Amino acid sequence: MNIYPFVYFDGQIQPLGNANISIASNSLQYGTTTFCGIRGYYDEGKIGLFRLEDHYQRFMDSSKIMGFNYFIDFKDFESILKAMVQKNELKEDFYIRPFIFSKDQRLGPKPVNLTFELAIFFVKFEHYFPTNGMRLMISSWRKFSDMSFSTKAKTGGCYVNSFLATGEAIRCGYDEALLSDQEGGIVEASVANILISYRNKLITPPVGAALLDGITLRTVIELLKDENISVSFEKIDRSMIYSCNELILTGTAAQISYAESVDDRIIGGLKEGKDHGPGPLCIMLREKFDAIVRRKNPKYKHWLTVV
Ligand code: PMP
Repeated sequence: MNIYPFVYFDGQIQPLGNANISIASNSLQYGTTTFCGIRGYYDEGKIGLFRLEDHYQRFMDSSKIMGFNYFIDFKDFESILKAMVQKNELKEDFYIRPFIFSKDQRLGPKPVNLTFELAIFFVKFEHYFPTNGMRLMISSWRKFSDMSFSTKAKTGGCYVNSFLATGEAIRCGYDEALLSDQEGGIVEASVANILISYRNKLITPPVGAALLDGITLRTVIELLKDENISVSFEKIDRSMIYSCNELILTGTAAQISYAESVDDRIIGGLKEGKDHGPGPLCIMLREKFDAIVRRKNPKYKHWLTVV
């Protein structure tokens, strides 16, 4: 992983090498962090940070849900990121990882007398998922219920669930895992939301299901609205996944990806064999998404913070 040299740590922008924490820190021992992932796109000499305020909002909600005693104003958060963009002299696409954590050396998973703070680092943009068709597997690991962990807070410890599911999928020769909830509804992938084209309808699970309220999916729903295409929020079961025409994965890391197969059932046709390319929905969404992040669609310029 390529990390850019200047990070935010201990309340200031400083070299990555200075940002060190104890092996006994509470957040390392128990995964007591909240985080977000934001994309920065470089075009025509400027960086565009995509939907910064929406990411910030979910980040602060995560901190509140977890009961962390940390809050930062949007303007301050934005200023730190702008200063980091300048200090790192960025001239390419990249990915931003802000997180709230406690470096206090403390054993015990309880939020008593723990101090939480913000740290941020930038990494080089990479395609997290293959850009061609992905081979998915429905994991035997279930997505946790919001009655056990928060599904709406991006909390470090919760991603052990994704780690187990992707571990199983990769060991079995697949690219990525889909997770079902306790009732068998397929809710999302390890780090992405799902949208399927099924019987002439576009369907995604309800926001209140055991899934992260994804900003990329919200973006896609807006783009479809512009085309007078509505999305239904409904339970998706395993058989619907196997028989859908297209399965799209959306996420800041995933961008807009598509499934070639799920559990070896080819998506979008009965034909056997390998990837038959992105379907019409995926092609349309990729094109529109790309135009927005590359500042080619004035209607959505408010979604980009230009530095
Ligand atoms: N679900 C999970 C579990 C995720 O980690 C992510 C990535 N943040 C998403 C969905 C997609 O969310 P977003 O589009 O906001 O990146």
